[in-house]
Amino acid sequence: MLTENELQLSADVLVIGGGPAAAWAAWAAASQGAKVIIVDKGFLGTSGAAAASGNGIMAPSPENWDKVLSERYRIGKNLANSRWIERVIEKTWLSLPLVEDWGYRFPKENGESVRQSYYGPEYMRVLRKNLLRVGVQILDQSPALELLLADDGSVAGARGVQRQHHRSYTVRAGAVVLANGGCAFLSKALGCNTNTGDGLLMAVEAGGELSSMEASNHYAISTAFNATVTRGVPFGWASYSDEAGNDLGGYVDGRRDPSFLPNALLKGSVYARLDRATPEVKAVIEKSHFISFLPYKKAGIDPYAERVPVTLILEGTVRGTGGIRLTDDSCGTKVPGLYAAGDAASREFLAGLASGGGGPNAAWAISTGQWAGVGAATFAKSLGDRANERVARPAGQVGLRSATVGGTPSPKLGRSPSPSPSSETFDSEAIVRGVQDQMFPLEKNYLRSEQGLLDSLAKLETLWQQVQGNPKQDTVRDVEFSRRAAALTAVARWAYFSALHRTETRSEHIRMDYPETDPSQRYYQATGGLERLWVRRDWIKDAIATPPALTTQTTPSVSKL
Ligand SMILES: Cc1cc2nc3c(=O)[nH]c(=O)nc-3n(C[C@H](O)[C@H](O)[C@H](O)COP(=O)(O)OP(=O)(O)OC[C@H]3O[C@@H](n4cnc5c(N)ncnc54)[C@H](O)[C@@H]3O)c2cc1C
Repeated sequence: MLTENELQLSADVLVIGGGPAAAWAAWAAASQGAKVIIVDKGFLGTSGAAAASGNGIMAPSPENWDKVLSERYRIGKNLANSRWIERVIEKTWLSLPLVEDWGYRFPKENGESVRQSYYGPEYMRVLRKNLLRVGVQILDQSPALELLLADDGSVAGARGVQRQHHRSYTVRAGAVVLANGGCAFLSKALGCNTNTGDGLLMAVEAGGELSSMEASNHYAISTAFNATVTRGVPFGWASYSDEAGNDLGGYVDGRRDPSFLPNALLKGSVYARLDRATPEVKAVIEKSHFISFLPYKKAGIDPYAERVPVTLILEGTVRGTGGIRLTDDSCGTKVPGLYAAGDAASREFLAGLASGGGGPNAAWAISTGQWAGVGAATFAKSLGDRANERVARPAGQVGLRSATVGGTPSPKLGRSPSPSPSSETFDSEAIVRGVQDQMFPLEKNYLRSEQGLLDSLAKLETLWQQVQGNPKQDTVRDVEFSRRAAALTAVARWAYFSALHRTETRSEHIRMDYPETDPSQRYYQATGGLERLWVRRDWIKDAIATPPALTTQTTPSVSKL
C-alpha cells in the first residue's frame, strides 16, 4: 500500500513546482519568516523549462522602462495591462542583483554586470543552493497530485507521491503556491515534459478558475531528426527550403513572417540551413545556445552548410499564456490561501494572448513567484498557529478515484475503495496519445476553426469519460501517470473550449473562420468546470494606451542573443 508508510509533514507555506517561479516563491515566503516546503516533480535545479537552457530576461535598465512597457503593451494587442507590465519590469530589475549576491555570475561589460539573460542550469543551481541556505525543505521527485481543502473552502495543503521512496505524502499548510509550470502535453520539448498541467486541474477542483486558455498553442521550431531542443534563436539566421531545394523565402517587409513556418510545414517538408550567420553570430550562438548544437554534433552535421529537416513542437502554455486566473496583486486565486506563479498562472496581464517568450516569461516567473510567496506567507500567518489542525479533505477526483465508486472521494491517496463491477481501468498511455492526436497537429491547433474545434472537443469528451473510470494504481508510477492523463485531458478541453468561444484571430489564437482581430472582443476569457465546461468574458475596462510605432528588423541583433 502506498499509504502504509505515508510521509506526513506540515508547513506554513507549501510550494508546488521546482522551476524559477517556485524557487522565488519559496524564498520570498521564507523571507517573511514562514516555514516553507517545496515539492518538485523532478529534481529542483534540473527540472522544468528554465533549467533546460538559457533564458533572455525582460529586465531593462530604468531609462528604458517606458520603451519596453510600450513594446509589451503593443504586442499584447490591447489585452495587456500597463500597470502589471510596469510592476513586473521593476520587480525583475530589483531582483536580479540578489541572484548575483547568491552566487550567480552575470557577464560583465566595462566592469558592470549585464543582467539580460541567464544560463538555466547554473541559475537553478544557485536558486536551489539559496533555498537550502534559508531553510526551505525540498522534496525532489515528489509530484503533487491533489490539494487539500478545509471546511471553509480554503486550501490546507496537498498530497502527492514520492517516486524514489514509493510512498505517498501529505503536506499540511496554511497556504499553497502552485508554480508547476505550463502544459506542453508531453510533446518532449526539452525541459517541458514534467509540465503536464497538473496544477491547473488541482486549482479547478479546488474552486479556482483559469484564464486565456485559448492562448495554449505555442509551437517552437526544432530539428526534425531525433531531437527536441526548441531553442529558436539559431534559426533566426536560417534560410529555408522545400524538399526539392527551392528557397521558401518567408520575409515580409524584411521581417520573417511568424506564420511562415507553420504554413510551409502544412504543405510539406521544410529544411533549414544556418547560412545567414556571420562568423560573429556563429561564435555567440554556439556559446550561448550550445544545447541547440548538440543534435547536429551527435549526427555529424554542419548546420551552416547542410540542410536539415525542421519541425514545430508544441510547447502549449509554456511559452503560451493561459493558466490559473489571478485575482489580485499578490497572485491570489479564487480559492482562499491558494496562489499561482510563473507559467502556471495566466500571463494575460503581461502578454495578452501573445507568447511571453524571449524575456517576459522569465521576468514573470521572478516577479509573480515573489508576490505569490509573500501573499501565501501573509495568508498563512493570518490563520494563526493552529492552521494545520483544521479538518481537511482531499479535493482531487478524476484520475485518482473512480467516479463510479459512489461519488465519495477515498480518504486514502492513490487507492480507491474496491471498484464497482462497472468501473473499467483506463489505459493512461492511450489517453495521452488520444489527447496528443488532438493537440499536436498544426491543422487542428495552429489553424483553428469552429468545426475542427467541435470535432476535437467531442473526441476529448470521450477521453474525459474514460478517465472517470478506475485509475491503475499498483505502483507510484501508475498513480502519477493516471492522474497526469486526467490533467492533460482536462487542460486540452479547457484550451479548445476557450478557443471555440473566442471568435476572432488575435496573436497566437488563429481562427480560420474569423481571420481578423475584432476590436470589440477586448476581454479576458475565464474558463473552468469539470463535467460541464464554461467560459466567461471578463471585460477590460482600462483605456487603451497608445504605444509608439513598430520598428522593423531584418534579423535578430547579435547583442540580443
Ligand atoms: C526552449 C525554451 C526557451 C525559452 N526561452 C525563454 C527566454 O529566452 N525568455 C523567457 O522569458 N522565457 C523563455 N522560456 C520560458 C521560460 O523557460 C518559462 O517561462 C519559465 O521556465 C517558467 O518558470 P516556471 O517555474 O513557471 O516553470 P518551469 O521552469 O517549467 O518549472 C516548472 C516546475 O514545476 C514542476 N512540476 C510540474 N508539475 C508538478 C507537480 N505536479 N508537482 C510538483 N512539481 C511539479 C516541474 O518539475 C518543474 O520543476 C523558454 C522556454 C522554452 C521551452
